[in-house]
Amino acid sequence: MIEVAGGVHVVRHEELDLTTGLVVGDDACLVIDTPGDHVQGAALARQIRQITAKPWHVVYTHAHFDHCYGTGPFQPCEVWAHENFRFDVEEKTAWARRYREQGKPEIGAAIEESELVAPTRTFAGRAEIELGGRKVVLRHFGPAHSFCDTVIEVPDTRTVFAGDLVEHPEFIEESFGDGDVTRWPGALDRLLALDPEVVVPGHGSPVDKDFVARAREILSAGWTSAR
Ligand SMILES: [Zn+2]
Repeated sequence: MIEVAGGVHVVRHEELDLTTGLVVGDDACLVIDTPGDHVQGAALARQIRQITAKPWHVVYTHAHFDHCYGTGPFQPCEVWAHENFRFDVEEKTAWARRYREQGKPEIGAAIEESELVAPTRTFAGRAEIELGGRKVVLRHFGPAHSFCDTVIEVPDTRTVFAGDLVEHPEFIEESFGDGDVTRWPGALDRLLALDPEVVVPGHGSPVDKDFVARAREILSAGWTSAR
């Protein structure tokens, strides 16, 4: 767990190099994504409780299993997501099988046991969550990495949690399932317009604006050549 700004934490997970977030306010805290199963979710909940005892909300950056299946241990709480958010139960089965084939049956079993916690609060374009002395802003820039990407801005620290809208090159290969690559560069333009100092991707280490601008150019050039 790294504190990238006052009360804004980035949590790196071993599995899939997943990166989740925690924003702490005076009255409540916001957990940005939960890991891919209830065992890892419970470990994250314990880790967060070492930092703060404030009540938590959860927000999902998108519906891919590795960002949301670990929410059971956080219940009861409000769970925020974009209004298009839908679980793909077949994805859950496929990943459980994949883990078994990779010789990690315990993770496969944990995924299958995991309770899918549906959003209790949804939004269309923009929403704010008040945490006490600080607010966070949720935005949807249209389908890009997935059909329900949510970007979470902590305006007082110029930190943006981008989910898989921003990816390190080693993860990009698996990213074109249910998104819209034609609209991805435009979504990154809108992210860059927030003028962030720190951008936290859904996997791997935090990056800066220049990294996002380069990713935008690579995606844009890739789409142009594919077309
Ligand atoms: Zn994803």
